[in-house]
Amino acid sequence: MTQAVLVLNVGSSSIKYQLLALDDAGEGERLATGLVERIGGQDPGKLSHRPAGAEALECTEVFASHAQALDAVLDAFRTAGPDLDEVKPTAVGHRVVHGGSRFTTATVLDDEVVSSLGELNPLAPLHNPPNLTGIEVARAAFPGVPQVAVFDTAFHQTLPPAAYTYAVPREWREEYSVRRYGFHGTSHAYVSRRAARFLARPVEEANVIVLHLGNGASVCAVERGRSVETSMGLTPLEGLVMGTRSGDLDPAVPAYLQRVAGLDADAVDRVLNRSSGLLGLAGSNDLRDVNRDAEAGDEDARLAHAVYCHRIRKYVGAYYAVLGRVDAVVFTAGVGENDARTRALSMQGLEGLGIEVDPVRNASAERGERSVSAPGTRVPVLVIPTDEEIEIARQTLGALGHAA
Ligand code: AMP
Repeated sequence: MTQAVLVLNVGSSSIKYQLLALDDAGEGERLATGLVERIGGQDPGKLSHRPAGAEALECTEVFASHAQALDAVLDAFRTAGPDLDEVKPTAVGHRVVHGGSRFTTATVLDDEVVSSLGELNPLAPLHNPPNLTGIEVARAAFPGVPQVAVFDTAFHQTLPPAAYTYAVPREWREEYSVRRYGFHGTSHAYVSRRAARFLARPVEEANVIVLHLGNGASVCAVERGRSVETSMGLTPLEGLVMGTRSGDLDPAVPAYLQRVAGLDADAVDRVLNRSSGLLGLAGSNDLRDVNRDAEAGDEDARLAHAVYCHRIRKYVGAYYAVLGRVDAVVFTAGVGENDARTRALSMQGLEGLGIEVDPVRNASAERGERSVSAPGTRVPVLVIPTDEEIEIARQTLGALGHAA
């Protein structure tokens, strides 16, 4: 049986959405995708609605609120299809960034859950409040349609205490919930499951290291289908070098900058999140620009890519030690799926661990799920395109007791 799910990813000034039809095996078909940008401003925003196999619709108008933007999305479905009254979505699935320690799995939204989600806002002040607005607006727009929250953190709730505990005083850990949570969980869950399938092994038997390298980037050690270590922490700042985020650095850096440069905690936080990473090192957060500049001989761009790949290599070695046995290293997201140079450079020198990228396979223009290691190497290196929306839809149906 096929069931439709409307997946909503609501940001502070945007709504991304997809209408998906899922069969019993969890395979999905996109019925429509869309995006509303610049919500809440005085300038006109833009809505792009793309129904599968039909003409796209674009409109420009002022979207004063998320509620008004969602109304415009419903209008777009009425005008350009597919007709939601005919498709009758089984549920609405919401991407929620932070689920704290309480939400270990996708959760059906009722008044009590919505109010406890509000309590998590301090943990993710940029992301959770707009997610919550999206939930409130969608509950009003789709009365009677079950709504489910799917958390970026939930997949990592299987981390053992030794991996999620920071070595800080009890008061910080207990009063202020300071611990590692991890993010990109829907992507790591989806990709690790597909990787096991690609290897023709049951998920419960496969150990994989997933490298989600997009604008945000994180690595996850997945042991027998469960996340046991991941590089993002209390917030999505820790770990790998990202488009605009620094990733790991000495925790003393903010206090040092306060002393020597007079920057307060908020200013340092902003710089580390918004103007560091590839942007801080090479002047662009897009690796395509960095690659182009590096090829043209720009030393900053070369260093940026070397730092980026060095950090990945270091984590793969560490997570190899965490897992003990690794059945595959898997690349995914914008950089991981598309940039052969990053795959090659970040895996360089890991031959001793049985990890070796094959230059010809790696450079091939092939798309989709594939191996880029030489046949017969001990640890296959795979590329598995991520699909967070399918995973959100799958988990949404799962939370409602429907198999998918
Ligand atoms: P994502 O967050 O998964 O959408 O990834 C976005 C990022 O992927 C962009 O900012 C680029 O840095 C990177 N990216 C996308 N396509 C390519 C490509 N063909 N080569 C290198 N990097 C790419």
